[in-house]
Amino acid sequence: MTLPIPALIPHYIGGQRVPSAGGERFDVLAPATNEVYTSAAAGQAADIDAAVAAAGDAFGEWSRLTARARASLLMRVADAIEARDDLLASLESFDTGLPITQARGQARRAAENFRFFADVIVGLNEDAFAVPGRQVNYVLRRPVGVAGLITPWNTPFMLETWKLAPALAAGCTVVLKPAEWSPLSASLLPEIAEEAGLPPGVLNIVHGIGEEAGDALVRHPDVPLISFTGETTTGQLIAANCAEHLKGVSMELGGKSPCVVFADADLDAAIDSAVFQIFSLNGERCTAGSRLLVQREIYDEVLDRLAARAGAVRVGDPGDPATELGALIHPEHYARVGEYVALGTAQGARLIAGGRRPAGLSDGNFMEATVFADVTEDMRVFQEEIFGPVLCVTPFDTEEEAVALANATRYGLAGYVWTTDLRRAHTVAERIDAGMLWINSHNVRDLRTPFGGVKASGLGREGGRHSIDFYTEQRIVHVNV
Ligand code: NAD
Repeated sequence: MTLPIPALIPHYIGGQRVPSAGGERFDVLAPATNEVYTSAAAGQAADIDAAVAAAGDAFGEWSRLTARARASLLMRVADAIEARDDLLASLESFDTGLPITQARGQARRAAENFRFFADVIVGLNEDAFAVPGRQVNYVLRRPVGVAGLITPWNTPFMLETWKLAPALAAGCTVVLKPAEWSPLSASLLPEIAEEAGLPPGVLNIVHGIGEEAGDALVRHPDVPLISFTGETTTGQLIAANCAEHLKGVSMELGGKSPCVVFADADLDAAIDSAVFQIFSLNGERCTAGSRLLVQREIYDEVLDRLAARAGAVRVGDPGDPATELGALIHPEHYARVGEYVALGTAQGARLIAGGRRPAGLSDGNFMEATVFADVTEDMRVFQEEIFGPVLCVTPFDTEEEAVALANATRYGLAGYVWTTDLRRAHTVAERIDAGMLWINSHNVRDLRTPFGGVKASGLGREGGRHSIDFYTEQRIVHVNV
């Protein structure tokens, strides 16, 4: 497929595709080659002002539509996304380096995000409390206003729609600031919105650098809430900057999630899962089980099998359907992942697979599927989020030790437990400090469940009604009868 690459990726403000008011732009690179393939408008405070004003103008009418009317439009957005399934996947794969077969799933999930939240808003019922003969109390919900949405570069289109759909369903209008390393798939959103019939100003997009466009959005006085997904340190800064206006914040942040494998586990399934979690999506997955904790009886066997599996992972052109591990997003990120590989070795971890640029791939951000064994709690590769195809394996002896190791980082996004002992599965899952636990499984999730992290992995929950709670104010009316 010849990709329709725009010469400039413009903003989308009040239904118009516009460059930055001052003409600023930034280069966009293709991760498989690191060649500049286009540029995008680099939003400044003036562009954010214009987008917030357009969203403010559109808010009244949009927020007053019935839930059914908004939901019908969102269903049409889903149809328009699905009609571009192949194109979206190809753009995403080209722009982010994700293997094309995995990018396809992202486009389908993006459409599902819109359908799902259209259903949620229509099915929403409110609380009411009666004190018989005395009082009735009932909840009224009101969309908060113009929502500021700031998203990361990993699975960008899927994560953008995961915020857009509930915000729009709830009756907010939005200003989206996509990640600067992956603006391409969002460039399809204007035509999708127009095909679906979204009124101008309901969805606005301002591209740009985080410290410029993102910061201006965060500080804008007419944006009462910010939904952010990204690194923990960025989230901390944004939360501090939101404090001046006491904005609502939803923070989906980094992770270093443990995957605990007991000796009685179904080992074939556990190893399949470990390999999938850390090497699919190029390891650039917030919920990746990046620390594998393995009971000592099976430690050597697991290491042998992991090394063999990692060695067989096909690294290559993201556009080739045979590729399992594509190119990491950006040369800066690639260098960072490489530094962690060097650091792991320097601190005494044992490299049992990968760790290098694969032979024959001299350009682009390609990294072999990498596994470190004998990783200890004091090592930085154990503690810090690498966000690449690097698995750290640590042995443990007892259940007690497994839980202590699982909880020994500042993060708490996800956790995984593999055992055939039902009692142990539940008690260990209960004791791991994480927002989301999986027992003998991974990555399967009902979209109604709360998604989010504890500790440094986040603040608030997204998913189902939890997202709607964030984008609406609940007011209570007390009536004497
Ligand atoms: P990042 O924090 O560098 O950037 C995220 C977004 O914030 C980008 O759009 C960026 O432009 C913007 N930004 C940066 N500085 C800003 C500032 N000062 N003010 C306002 N906006 C600013 O994150 P990233 O590198 O794009 O993404 C990877 C991170 O995201 C990883 O830590 C990963 O774990 C996390 N993540 C978390 C989840 C989750 O649901 N918990 C999901 C995906 C990714």
